[in-house]
Parts: sequence; structure tokens; C-alpha cells
Amino acid sequence: MTKKPVFDIAVIGGGPAGLSAALTGRIRNKQVALFEHRSFSQKLQKAHTVENYLGLPELSGQEMMRQFADHCLKHQPTLIKEKVMNIFPGNEMFTLLTPDATYEAKTIILTTGVTSAVLLGGERELLGRGVSYCATCDGMLYRGRDVAVISYTPEGESEADYLSEICLNVHYLPQYKETPCVNDKVEVLHSKPLEVVGKQTVDELITDKGTLKVDGVFILRHSDPVENILPGLELGAGDVILVKRDMATNIPGVFAAGDCTGKPWQIAKATGEGLVAVFSAIQYLDQQSRKTADGASDKIQKNV
Ligand SMILES: Cc1cc2nc3c(=O)[nH]c(=O)nc-3n(C[C@H](O)[C@H](O)[C@H](O)COP(=O)(O)OP(=O)(O)OC[C@H]3O[C@@H](n4cnc5c(N)ncnc54)[C@H](O)[C@@H]3O)c2cc1C
Repeated sequence: MTKKPVFDIAVIGGGPAGLSAALTGRIRNKQVALFEHRSFSQKLQKAHTVENYLGLPELSGQEMMRQFADHCLKHQPTLIKEKVMNIFPGNEMFTLLTPDATYEAKTIILTTGVTSAVLLGGERELLGRGVSYCATCDGMLYRGRDVAVISYTPEGESEADYLSEICLNVHYLPQYKETPCVNDKVEVLHSKPLEVVGKQTVDELITDKGTLKVDGVFILRHSDPVENILPGLELGAGDVILVKRDMATNIPGVFAAGDCTGKPWQIAKATGEGLVAVFSAIQYLDQQSRKTADGASDKIQKNV
């Protein structure tokens, strides 16, 4: 079996902040994984014209993103077109979970932008106690039990199909326009979720058309609130990631940049913060490898 590489830096999100961080990381010769599950910054691609980015006047948002992405990808970060669902800090590295695989990296740069999602009542409180964002990661916990899948994207259909292989009953609540295509074992309900309810763990899902008795609720959005990807991440007012001037978060080895650290939501701030974050990540890597080298030489001296 081939062993997967351990990346020096994992950048989560391929908008202006993430591409800026990944570009400089590669120029500094680091092994960089760039995770982007959709097209590079759908948000900026919606801008008709960008007037205020220095040196690139009057480009459409789409053209600007094309130029940003082309420039970054020329330096060959490893582009992984998967959504990062969870990040687990370990002793020496972080494990990143996507629906299809796991990856390892020594440092993390969060550049996920802002999510406009309004959370359901009870969602945050019951996260990890019946509420989940990933069927592949947590599905087995609900073997033989009843679950609901609320999906804001057709990607949820394959998750519901998978859950129907292991769960007793799967209710699928599509929150998008397209007609859902799921297997016969999945019950499609055209209702609006209102609240997840439970004392210790999830007991029911309240919708506008009634209450479903369920043990688990899977919620699939285009992007998840970032603190759900990395529990323990400290947030400030407005649920933005709290960072120091060097873009360090409260978790050692984790940095953040761009819209996810707060206003102003602007491209120049995002690219600038991406640059600062990657320099800080490189400094952190240097410190860690010095510590490892010091530890090794201490051991040698003790053995002499
Ligand atoms: C219509 C419009 C017009 C705008 N006009 C201007 C303007 O003229 N000037 C200006 O300065 N700014 C403008 N902005 C703001 C600008 O687009 C943002 O400030 C900028 O895109 C922020 O960059 P970012 O990299 O922080 O986040 P984003 O651009 O939001 O990128 C985040 C990326 O992360 C990806 N992602 C999120 N979660 C995950 C995950 N778990 N796994 C993998 N990938 C993930 C997303 O798919 C996305 O591509 C405009 C915005 C809009 C919507």
C-alpha cells in the first residue's frame, strides 16, 4: 500500500485568501494541500466588476478568480477537490477528514469564507450528540436506527442512499429546487426543518409539516460553520474566527485568513491575510522541527 504524504500545510478553501496562502507556501517550497470542494470562490465569481483591487482594474469577479487560480496552480499545490468535514488535532499533526478520504498535515490554514447559513434551533447544542454533517464519518453510529437527512444540495442524495443501507428508516428533506433522485428505501419529505430537539441526544426533528422521531439528523449545506469543522476553535462577535495579528487562532498550528476572520469582507484583506497566515505557518513549522532536533540531540547526549 502506498503511504499518503504528510503535507506541511493544508489550506482549507480556494478563494482569494486560500490561493494567496497556497501560492506563497509553494514558493517557499512547502508541501501544500489546497482543499476546494466547489469552484474557486463562487462568491467572488458573482461580482460583476471589481473596481478596488490594486493593479487589476475593472476585471469581472470570474476573470479575477481565473487569474488567481491559474497563478496559484502554476506553482503546483496539491489540489484536492473534496470538502473538509472535520479536522482532528493530534500530537504532531492534524488529521483531515473528507467524505472520501483522510489526510495529514502539520499545520492548517482556514480560509473557508463566511457561511450565510442560519443554524436550526438545537443544531449547535446537539452537534456530536445526534447532529452530524457527514454520513460517511458518523453513519455507522446510527446502524439500525432512524435518521433524517436535511440537504441544501443534491450532494445529499448519495449520503441518504448510503444511510439507507445501514439505518432502519431514512427521511430525506431536500431544501433545493431539483427533483431528488434517491433509492426506494429513502422516504422523501418535502417539508421545512424547524428545530432539532433532544435532552441528552437527538429525539426528534420538528418540521413545518409535523414531528419526526429520529435518533440522528444529518445536515448537508454548501458550507458548514467553521467551528463545526474544528471543534474548540475560539470565535469572536459575529461568529468569526478570533485571530492574533499573525493570523494564529487559539489552537497551536492553526491559522485563519480572509472573510472567515471578520470584516471588511474584501479581496485585498483576504489575499493579505492569506500571505501573513502562511508566513506564520512556516515559522511554526520551523519551530516544531527545531524542537524535534533539540529533543533528538538531548537523547543522544544522555546516551553518550
Ligand atoms: C457579489 C459580490 C461582489 C463583491 N465585490 C467585491 C469587490 O468589488 N471588491 C472586494 O474587495 N470584494 C468584493 N466581494 C467580497 C469578496 O468576494 C470576498 O471578500 C472574498 O471572496 C473573500 O475571500 P475568501 O478567500 O476569504 O473567501 P471565499 O471567497 O468565500 O472563499 C472560500 C472558499 O472556501 C471553500 N470552502 C469552504 N468550506 C470548505 C471546506 N470545508 N472544504 C473545502 N473548501 C471549502 C468555498 O467553496 C470557497 O471557494 C464581493 C462579494 C460578492 C458576493
